[in-house]
Amino acid sequence: MSDLALQIAADVRAGRRSAREVVEESLSLIATGDDIHAFLEVLADEALARADAIDRSVADGEDPGPLAGVPIALKDNLCTRGIPTTCSSRILAGWRPPYDATVVERLRDAGAVLVGKTNMDEFAMGSSTENSCSGPTLNPRDRGRVPGGSSGGSAASVAAGFVPLALGSDTGGSIRQPAALCGVVGVKPTYGLVSRYGLVAFASSLDQIGPLGASVADAALCLEVIAGHDARDTTSLEGPVPDMLAAVERPVRGLRVGLVTELVEGTSPEVAARVRESAEALAGAGCAVEEVSIPQFRYGLSAYYLIAPAEASSNLARFDGVRYGLRVDASDAEAMNVATRTAGFGPEVKRRIMLGTYALSAGYYDEYYAKAQRVRRWVANGFADAYAKFDALLGATTPTTAFALGEHSEDPLAMYRSDTCTVPANLSGDPAMSVPFGTDAGGLPVGVQVFAPALGEDVMFALAGALERSAPTKEPPR
Ligand code: GLN
Repeated sequence: MSDLALQIAADVRAGRRSAREVVEESLSLIATGDDIHAFLEVLADEALARADAIDRSVADGEDPGPLAGVPIALKDNLCTRGIPTTCSSRILAGWRPPYDATVVERLRDAGAVLVGKTNMDEFAMGSSTENSCSGPTLNPRDRGRVPGGSSGGSAASVAAGFVPLALGSDTGGSIRQPAALCGVVGVKPTYGLVSRYGLVAFASSLDQIGPLGASVADAALCLEVIAGHDARDTTSLEGPVPDMLAAVERPVRGLRVGLVTELVEGTSPEVAARVRESAEALAGAGCAVEEVSIPQFRYGLSAYYLIAPAEASSNLARFDGVRYGLRVDASDAEAMNVATRTAGFGPEVKRRIMLGTYALSAGYYDEYYAKAQRVRRWVANGFADAYAKFDALLGATTPTTAFALGEHSEDPLAMYRSDTCTVPANLSGDPAMSVPFGTDAGGLPVGVQVFAPALGEDVMFALAGALERSAPTKEPPR
């Protein structure tokens, strides 16, 4: 599946290659290679039936769409009608959603073939995919290491070559961080660009769905397909979707790029070195690159770890043993709620619910939640000030390359710190993406992060394209 999505779609639309052949190849790679546990569920029969339908429509002279025959993996917090959607949580065991997420509908309408649901941190809470009730996903580039999280299964499925594209969700970095750690491209769009209808909510004011892909152009194509207004999500933006695929080839000469001090300092020496090299590469391509300090970025993490758990504690109240999945029976309704939630949620989810409930409780609300909201605004102001001088910003995606399995399991704060570089863009709602740019001495991928103002995805993709063209050559997965 080393072919790019763009290539597959072009070949299938022109009848040069059948969707069945493409999908069979993807399914056989998964069947033989998924000892890394990227998938929770593989939809072989559905995928082959869908591929045959696409081939028939090509034979009938119809155009199945821009993603014709492209195998795609979906993070398991995206609702798929009649297909288990577990969020890697015991509490959703056996639940089959009665509807598809908007992104799922849009992918199908564009001719994509859904081949499976991917592993994740339970309810998207985590940075390593170790908080999954069915065990961790391994990093395909080094099986002793984590793939990042929470969309670790999606990132690993692309990095392993099982699928050219996958969808993830990003509340505090869950698309960009695993993309960086696995050496693939990951995009968090502008808040509201992609409909959240059918995404199981973690922190609704921060959540966005976005693509992970083997190339910048593939990610742009996928985002163009899933973006755009949806009346079923009240936070969905109206108006035109930025031109992204065309922007990938656009010249970047003359763009003003700010290299964010806070996203270089505090990262490991090798990550910092790659980020500086990526800044030089953009300067070499004609950008005006200058360093800029955004001191607010130092406080993003603290605000995020109050706001995200606060919203989660409210969103997760719906898992009560009545409406979805697991029920542990007890003498009365309240005891049943308690028994179900005690058995159904893992330790990190319980920690978040307690943190969030505390931050929202009377007497602490002003001190924690309200203060975190002010810091959120202040971080957004930091971006706005920088965008008065720069067209885009650049920095590390993660403080380090992929860490070892178990390395942060006993220390939640160490795990939270791996989100330092990604949370600011969730707090502001602006778009950001991670692009692979070289490796550390051990061959582990480094990701650099490109930021742009709201709905500035075209500028972001132009710079990402330039980075991809100038990146040191990629090591094949081990
Ligand atoms: N790692 C962060 C957290 O645990 C972000 C998760 C996400 O983006 N879904 O909250």
